[in-house]
Amino acid sequence: MDAMVLEQARHPLVLKKLEVPKPGPGQVLIRVIACGICRTDLHVIDGELTQPKLPLIPVHEIIGRIAALGNSVADPQLDELVGVPWLGYTCGQCKYCKAGKENLCENALFTGYTVDGDYAEYTVADVRFCFKLDEKYAAASSTPLLCAGLIGYRSYRMIEPLAKNVGFYGFGAAAHILVQLAVAQGKKIFAFTRDGDQQAQDFALRMGACWAGGSSDSAPEILDAAIIFAPAGALIPKALKDVDKGGQVICGGIHMSDVPSFSYDLLWGERMVKSVANLTRSDGIEFFELLKNMKIDVETELFDLREANQALEKFRSGQISGAAVLVMS
Ligand SMILES: [Zn+2]
Ligand SMILES: [Zn+2]
Repeated sequence: MDAMVLEQARHPLVLKKLEVPKPGPGQVLIRVIACGICRTDLHVIDGELTQPKLPLIPVHEIIGRIAALGNSVADPQLDELVGVPWLGYTCGQCKYCKAGKENLCENALFTGYTVDGDYAEYTVADVRFCFKLDEKYAAASSTPLLCAGLIGYRSYRMIEPLAKNVGFYGFGAAAHILVQLAVAQGKKIFAFTRDGDQQAQDFALRMGACWAGGSSDSAPEILDAAIIFAPAGALIPKALKDVDKGGQVICGGIHMSDVPSFSYDLLWGERMVKSVANLTRSDGIEFFELLKNMKIDVETELFDLREANQALEKFRSGQISGAAVLVMS
């Protein structure tokens, strides 16, 4: 099978012919339909996440169909549609797993980082961490739901349920999915993009934001909560400035540039800053259950597997609105 392989961080991926992997006990072999690119993949490929398995098949937003079952797998059935997320394995034994916080598991493995991901025609995955998907998601455009959507959803769950005015800082794959869910639940979304990025602001308005502006603009109304999707630490004090007393600033990214120092006044009034790490399986089950009754439009730009490096470069330079997805031919 063809696969795009990372041999060394900060180097382009290399096209390789590899054996189709065999599913071990508890694993399934998946024929990949498509895989989405997430900012975390850039952090892995660019060496900002420093512990990848090498060589590595990156990427962790996959949808595909079951092609073979390993020993002791009874469900799903052959040909069923599944999604594979970032969380690839947790131990079930550590204090975090026992406390229901498997997203913090000390022995977790992550798809496309510490286990192989999906830049390939086939992949194997631990069946306990795959999500069975409704057939309506059998399209390349559904792949961003598996991470941008899911981690975005975990971030969104962290804000007070009664928060009405919510700021989204950075408007890409995660934000454009979440804005639709949030608006359906009666929230008003204020989208902050790079200053002067009219295209991203138009995109945010089109997807349902009630206001869009640059990240140094002031919001036209005081915000109850903020979610930061962009990896820019300077957005934390900015978002604190925009939120009301008691408001939360949730950071949805796995990596962020340094946070500049700021006056305690900005945090005062029981404002809170919190990061979101990974996901739990129950986040996914809840998210995909919600999506069954909704129609989420995902904007994607499609690339062939062999165009992986071009797709990554376009994504890195901020030229993709929505999400970049690689499709298997
Ligand atoms: Zn654990
Ligand atoms: Zn991701």
